[in-house]
Amino acid sequence: MEEQLESLKKAALQELKEADTLGVLNELRVKYLGKKGSLTGVLKGLGNLQPEERPRIGQIVNAIRTQLEMEIANKSDELKQAELDKRLASERIDVTLPGRTSNIGSRHPLTLTLDRIKDTFMRMGFDIADGPEVETDYYSFEALNLPKDHPARDMQDSFYITSDILLRPHTSPVQVRTMQAADPGQPIRIIAPGKVYRRDYDATHSPMFHQVEGLVVDRGIRFSDLKGTLELFIYEIFGNDVRVRFRPSFFPFTEPSAEVDVSCVMCGGKGCRVCSGTGWLEILGSGMVHPRVLEMSRFDSDKVSGFAFGMGVERIAMLVYGIDDLRLFYDNDLRFLRQF
Ligand SMILES: [Zn+2]
Repeated sequence: MEEQLESLKKAALQELKEADTLGVLNELRVKYLGKKGSLTGVLKGLGNLQPEERPRIGQIVNAIRTQLEMEIANKSDELKQAELDKRLASERIDVTLPGRTSNIGSRHPLTLTLDRIKDTFMRMGFDIADGPEVETDYYSFEALNLPKDHPARDMQDSFYITSDILLRPHTSPVQVRTMQAADPGQPIRIIAPGKVYRRDYDATHSPMFHQVEGLVVDRGIRFSDLKGTLELFIYEIFGNDVRVRFRPSFFPFTEPSAEVDVSCVMCGGKGCRVCSGTGWLEILGSGMVHPRVLEMSRFDSDKVSGFAFGMGVERIAMLVYGIDDLRLFYDNDLRFLRQF
């Protein structure tokens, strides 16, 4: 009997040692310690033994039982740990792999230019005014003293939505709206930057482009104020080495009017393809606000005067950065945009 128990124990320990999964281990538990297990069977058979043999054999069986339970518990811990190690190894993140860099964009050359223009005028005390891009004929033309036969009023040149509503062909409506909203006794000093729309498309024209217009109205504003303001602006944008030229011109909403030229930034004034050999580049239009425009917005033209100017942002950006085709601004080609 004792020999039988000894070999049972040996076999059980050997099998436990070889168990390699928790499933196998559980089967062994049932096989030896379960209700119908081998050891349980021996205990049940104690009744067949001589009464004096029973306690001794019972003790041996219980000792084996305790030992097996302990071995099973140890093996179970061991297998659980091995399983965890295996999972950790397979799910490990390799922190030495190079990461994915996120691309940081840059500001668009037109935004950069617009920001510089705004910054320059804001330092001179100008406010920034805004207005709708879908405008009425009244604010776009009539209130600006633009006659009925002015080319910008033509269907060929502007985007009309109805006969009275159009996409603004310039930011001048903002000037009118600012004057009409202002108290006529109060000075005005604004720039109006924004998108404008005209029916043009080639290397120097786009159906949508950006303008910055400016307006100053106050008592005693003279042409010298206009000149001083615009010269300072031009030196800020193009540097102190350029020369500035005011050339008489005509606009319906200003009198007198002047085109403002800057010496060619490409050739320094010697004459090249960009300046068509003249050595000068036209960059903005300006003039003293026409008395009729002031009157239409309730200002007393005997008491106050003003000046106005307007420029194309694309044109300034092309000259500042040496870009020869305006359409590049809108192609969204990263090779172009990354250069700024
Ligand atoms: Zn030139």
